[in-house]
Amino acid sequence: MSRERAKLVVGNWKMHGRIGDNATLLTEVAAGASALQKGVRVGVCVPCPYLAQSQALLSGSVVQWGIQDVSAHAGGAFTGEVAAEMAADFGVTYAIVGHSERRAYHRESPELVASKAQRAIEAGLTPIVCVGETLEERQAGTTEQIIGTQLEAVLQILTEEQAAGIVVAYEPVWAIGTGKTATPQQAEEVHAHIRARIAGRDAKIAALVRIQYGGSVKAANAAELFSMPNVDGGLIGGASLKAEEFLAIVAAARG
Ligand code: PEP
Repeated sequence: MSRERAKLVVGNWKMHGRIGDNATLLTEVAAGASALQKGVRVGVCVPCPYLAQSQALLSGSVVQWGIQDVSAHAGGAFTGEVAAEMAADFGVTYAIVGHSERRAYHRESPELVASKAQRAIEAGLTPIVCVGETLEERQAGTTEQIIGTQLEAVLQILTEEQAAGIVVAYEPVWAIGTGKTATPQQAEEVHAHIRARIAGRDAKIAALVRIQYGGSVKAANAAELFSMPNVDGGLIGGASLKAEEFLAIVAAARG
């Protein structure tokens, strides 16, 4: 398997932090990441109101910024939604789509998530497409089936060129914010399955697509997870809210 995929570590700040906290965190991450970043890509996905702040504080640094969701529509009468094109106006690189919290609390279907990924790409953003199974689904032995359904909806809607530009984040729902991390072997098993499914569409695309692991990654377990051949970095929730911890995770991705 190709080792040319530079690892990608992205923080998902969710609905945490206010403008003052963010100023400190963005500044600390930008300062620390410049020393560490060699060979690793680093990003932070902030709450929408802070995109302009992120652009102001991160422009010129090695840290890219992103949005935590986008609308499936380019514009129009969709109160409360944010178009990918609007995010692009603020220099955004990444758009998380299909996070399990959106799938669970907002009933987002695989097809809607796929449309969001497509809109993000059309606006020039890189979608980070989250997939993952619940504990019940894992215990029932349906992990691959669930992830297959989530992934296939995206692969079906995208052209090959578009598919080559996505990032997939494997985030087992039972590991998000719970302190329970998938073992490196469990993660590798699912990541290899995801890559094999993408290879079913096109082997070259499969070799290019980054597959991040997300779910209670911290400095203490990151290196082991990132050492697996199909784990191309991480999507980091709670641990991305402390600069020192997040930067230690970035350092672990350098290998
Ligand atoms: C997430 O919400 O994407 C996530 C991975 O959270 P945590 O790292 O806190 O489990």
